Parts: sequence; C-alpha cells; structure tokens
Amino acid sequence: MEPTDRVVHTQEEWRSILTPDRYEILREKGTEHAFSGEYEDHWEDGVYHCYACDLPLFDSTSKFYSGSGWPSFSQPVSADAVEEHEDFSHGMTRVEVTCARCDGHLGHVFGDGPPPTGLRYCINSLSLKFVPR
Ligand code: FE
Repeated sequence: MEPTDRVVHTQEEWRSILTPDRYEILREKGTEHAFSGEYEDHWEDGVYHCYACDLPLFDSTSKFYSGSGWPSFSQPVSADAVEEHEDFSHGMTRVEVTCARCDGHLGHVFGDGPPPTGLRYCINSLSLKFVPR
C-alpha cells in the first residue's frame, strides 16, 4: 500500500479512537476469548472491514466454520489488504496478520484451512466491522 494511503495515528490518538477492548486487540496484539466474539457464529452476506480504519478485509463468501472459536476465512478480499509477519511470541511460531492500511492486529493465519487455499485466517471479531451487502 502506498504510504499516502496509510492510516497513521499516535498511541494516544488510537486510545481515544478505539474502545479499550478493541485497542487491546488492534494496537497491543491481544486476543479475544474463544467463542466470545460477535462474528464467530455470524453468516450474513457482506464484507468484514477493519474496525480501526474501515479497509475492506474479508468477504463473507470466504468465511467458514472452523470450530476454533474465532471468525475464520480462507482468504482476504485481496492480497494487498493484509500483511503477514512471523510471530514468535508466547513460545509459538505463528504468522501474524495485520491490516495493510493501519497496521492494526487482526489475528493469525494457519495452514489448516479448507480448499482451495488451505489457509485459515483466524481473526478477532473485535478487529472487524461487518458491512452487509
Ligand atoms: Fe485498518
């Protein structure tokens, strides 16, 4: 994403923009409790946007039930909507997924998803805002 398209705020600005629970996930890389999120069992037709900057991230057509306790998608709306980073925190090796526009933490991507991608984007509901089609 071009630098001019990016959404950049200071930590204090994000604190005023986001509720404390969303700030904890999006800016501090927290994780909501499994099965707690509003989109874990949500199957309406539409697009899930970044809660922090409103960038469209995941289409409901790529959403699937994983049983993991978090909304799960087989792919983002486009390859440049998200960025992926190696994450060695908590004694695990994972791939973190962030919003390409605001750097907000979304979740992680795993290699145990359904065809055709075989990927499971495991995303916090609190990082998302659903927009019906
Ligand atoms: Fe964002």
